[in-house]
Amino acid sequence: MDSGLVLILVITALLLGLAAGKAWERYKLMEGQWVDRRRVRQSPHFIVGLNYLVAGRIDLAIEELEQASTIDPGALELRMVLGNLYRERGQVGRAIQEHQGLLQRPRLSRAEHANVLLCLGLDYRRGGFVDRATEAFTEVLKLAPDNEAALGNLEKLQEEQHQWQEAYATRQRLATVAKPAEQARSRTILAFLEHALGVQALADGRLADASRHFTDAIDLDPTVIPAYLSLGDARLKQGDAAGAAAIWEKAVNVSPDRAYLPLERLEALYVREGRADRFTAICERLTTAAPREWRARAALARHLVSQGQPTRALELLFGALEHNPHALAIHQSIWSLLSTLDLPRPLVARYIEITRQSVFYLDPHVCTRCRYRSTELLWQCPQCHEWNSFVEERITPASDIESEMSSGPVA
Ligand SMILES: [Zn+2]
Repeated sequence: MDSGLVLILVITALLLGLAAGKAWERYKLMEGQWVDRRRVRQSPHFIVGLNYLVAGRIDLAIEELEQASTIDPGALELRMVLGNLYRERGQVGRAIQEHQGLLQRPRLSRAEHANVLLCLGLDYRRGGFVDRATEAFTEVLKLAPDNEAALGNLEKLQEEQHQWQEAYATRQRLATVAKPAEQARSRTILAFLEHALGVQALADGRLADASRHFTDAIDLDPTVIPAYLSLGDARLKQGDAAGAAAIWEKAVNVSPDRAYLPLERLEALYVREGRADRFTAICERLTTAAPREWRARAALARHLVSQGQPTRALELLFGALEHNPHALAIHQSIWSLLSTLDLPRPLVARYIEITRQSVFYLDPHVCTRCRYRSTELLWQCPQCHEWNSFVEERITPASDIESEMSSGPVA
């Protein structure tokens, strides 16, 4: 789900809460007069605005909710939500103005003050005012130390500025207030932050510090593979080649799915030490254990080519192709080898036969809600039960990957 949609849902939930009368006391003394706040909720503009919001039509929702707010201009929550909607529409300046105005109101409760500040922090963040956003979230936390939204946003701001130590402290605070079900995720994030601290130490040449951070990261979450890679790098820099090899081999065992990641490092190390057979053995073990794992075959093939054994390499790549006909890297390696061998007819014929027998893109349909994959188009998802949620997966040209990634996920 994209963050815009999440926000709209949160805003909608807030308004529904208001509609249920939970968050809003019924009467309020306004400039010497009792105002019946139910009138806003009973206003057709409020209900119609709510419907537009649920339908994701922000412009129309704003129009109606503005109308509703004229009934009770003092309604803090409604003005706060309107400010958020302006921000969602891209009018950050207007959102800031709205929320700053609310802060000027006398007799704000502590919770109201914190909520408005949080909205203002989100405005600043959207507008790219990093310092002011940081300040706003920090202020929220003085008023409400357990505010998860403020902590989460503060952590992201600190991460964006590579303030890993600060981000780590913020995540630790978040972990103490998070529900038990979210603890594991917090540990994983802490492990990645430990890894980032280690990378920083490694770049500064503080090798012992770096190693400690990487070890701590693995202790926090043994599945965080980059920590194994970096710990090996640090050990190698300290002259401990055996230690580096040991930790990289451990990474292969911990996460066979990602085992190809340390392979390049292991190859370089073992070849340098004259123990290339050790590397070959690791690759063969991986390939036997997981026949679909084509990257281990490709790594071994690369190694065999460098050892002057192109025919054996080609056999491996043919094997990889049978399991993964969609992997363009395999086709490229095969053609490069076939060219080196001067296109021997029987091998070219075998390549054509393998590709002809392969079923390409066996599961091209993906549920846009839960990513469930299916070979044929389904009208209801068997996993998340959403209707009409399948799209045919599109393969993006490599040159467009960057622009696609910056514009969000591709359906
Ligand atoms: Zn689904």
